[in-house]
Amino acid sequence: MRVPFLDLTIQYASIRDDIHAAIDRVCASQQFIGGPELEAFEQEVAATIGVPFAVGVSSGTDALLVSLMALGIGAGDEVVTPTFSFFATAGSVVRTGARPVFVDVDPATLTMRAEEVERVIGPRTKAIIPVHLYGLCADMAPLLALAADAGIAVIEDAAQALGATYHGRQAGALGTFGCFSFFPSKNLGAFGDAGLVTVHDEALAARIKRLRNHGAEQRYYHREIGGNFRLDALQAAVLRVKLPHLSGWNAAREANARTYKQLFDAAGLGKVVLPVDAPGRRHIYHQFVIRVPERDRVRAHLAERGVGTDVYYPVPFHRQECFAGLTPPDRQFPEADRAAAEVLALPIFPELTHAQQTHVVDVIAECLKD
Ligand SMILES: *Cc1c(COP(=O)(O)O)cnc(C)c1O
Repeated sequence: MRVPFLDLTIQYASIRDDIHAAIDRVCASQQFIGGPELEAFEQEVAATIGVPFAVGVSSGTDALLVSLMALGIGAGDEVVTPTFSFFATAGSVVRTGARPVFVDVDPATLTMRAEEVERVIGPRTKAIIPVHLYGLCADMAPLLALAADAGIAVIEDAAQALGATYHGRQAGALGTFGCFSFFPSKNLGAFGDAGLVTVHDEALAARIKRLRNHGAEQRYYHREIGGNFRLDALQAAVLRVKLPHLSGWNAAREANARTYKQLFDAAGLGKVVLPVDAPGRRHIYHQFVIRVPERDRVRAHLAERGVGTDVYYPVPFHRQECFAGLTPPDRQFPEADRAAAEVLALPIFPELTHAQQTHVVDVIAECLKD
């Protein structure tokens, strides 16, 4: 049996006619930049998340970058990020001229901890970027309280968490900004690169709209320097077709996660650490990430038996070559280092079958038997 890590063709087949109709609509209008598809998509996402403003942008990376720019963050400023995330979380900070300050993560959820952040907040700190890793929100209440006390902004990196909730509120509705990615493999995937920023403050929303368009409100009159961070109409039209399906797809991921947990429990594999469900937080399982000793051996064995897996992420920021020198040598990140060596993402896409899940767990059991 073959179990691909991700198969998007099944989803596509199920909505093909609607997608083609949406693409035809944009082609007929020949309006590819801005326009009604983009505006409708922004309103639909804002309503889904429960925020007054949603601004479509070119990618999740640019969502982070433009949020930092809208806060006026730059040279001389510091922004706190977890050391364990996708590269863009910290890369975007450096691109503004500011300095990312890394913190270790919670060992159970691999997300940012207020206790760690508190130790590094200083007079230069302008923002923190909690990451809702794998589809589970960071513990936001203490982070929001800390940020409010310090008078700094909270940029949620919700690229993996569209639909996740934290005590009844949606990821992306909790901080100053919520940053989303519609990279094709995300829970809501475009047909190319796309992203979005959610925001409560009207002036900040207006600034993001200006920044995504080279800092111009009126064409050719530039109040400030932005970039081309626009989300195009074709992507918006595709995403509008998919958005109403998202809660069903997320529910299918959650059901698959429950199945994996039952199968692993039944197999009695003491060496495998399963992802946790935190009280009051809806985990939408963008990824189902287990932790195993000898991860690379297990991964190779799975590949041999036709099972695709991936590793998010093998190298924490404090060990990235491009960030060398940013962190004092005596600062340690033991939880992130341990996670980088142990995490293994299993197939979890909504259309995965019970037989495929059984096969995945059987192969892992076979590999860890002795
Ligand atoms: C995917 C992702 C991003 C970047 O999104 P792109 O759309 O690929 O630029 C940022 N942060 C995290 C945590 C992500 O998973």
